[in-house]
Amino acid sequence: MKITQVTPVVTQLTRLRFVNAFLVREDDGLTLVDTTMGKAADDLLDAARAVGAPIKRIALTHGHGDHVGGLDALKERLGDSVVVLMPDLDARIHDGESVVEGKVPGSWPTLQTKPDVRLAAGDRVGSLEVVATPGHTPGHVAFLDTRDRTLIAGDVYTTYGRAAVTNHFYIRFPLAAMATWDKGKDLESARALRALEPTILTVGHGPLIRNPTAAMDAAIARAESA
Ligand SMILES: [Zn+2]
Repeated sequence: MKITQVTPVVTQLTRLRFVNAFLVREDDGLTLVDTTMGKAADDLLDAARAVGAPIKRIALTHGHGDHVGGLDALKERLGDSVVVLMPDLDARIHDGESVVEGKVPGSWPTLQTKPDVRLAAGDRVGSLEVVATPGHTPGHVAFLDTRDRTLIAGDVYTTYGRAAVTNHFYIRFPLAAMATWDKGKDLESARALRALEPTILTVGHGPLIRNPTAAMDAAIARAESA
């Protein structure tokens, strides 16, 4: 697992050059944002040990398998010492509810772990503010670190080569658009994240971008004409 220091309090963990999770430091320990895939649990726990604090919370941007894949194994190891938070609509999809018309694309693996908290817009997870960003999935959320406006954007953007909104086909990472549920809402969410004026953009797939607003503007312009 590749470890990148994003800020003094946020660490990016990259698995197989493909998918990112994040450790966010708080006074009482760490929030892990996303869990990458199955079999990642031990590597994620090692990374937390290297940071020097226990994982107290697991907060998920959305319910796709490459973000929740490590959840059950982590919950098995951490037990009741960890609180699991998932966006409300994606938690209901995992529960077998049909919350929208038609099929929701992407991988939705069966989870043993039920979230303790269903996230809604405006909720706080430690220093992170929950931002509703539906489109890639019905319940997708992003997390804004209110200490310095570092943004954890999940799969609203990818950043391989350059920033791209996941509402349209992009050759460097076509999977993201294929797994996107509502392309119009996804583009609206990309605009909403840009309007937050983040200082750093981090995403589920791709490297971080510092001072990202120009790159986000360009990505939105390409997405509008795609
Ligand atoms: Zn996804």
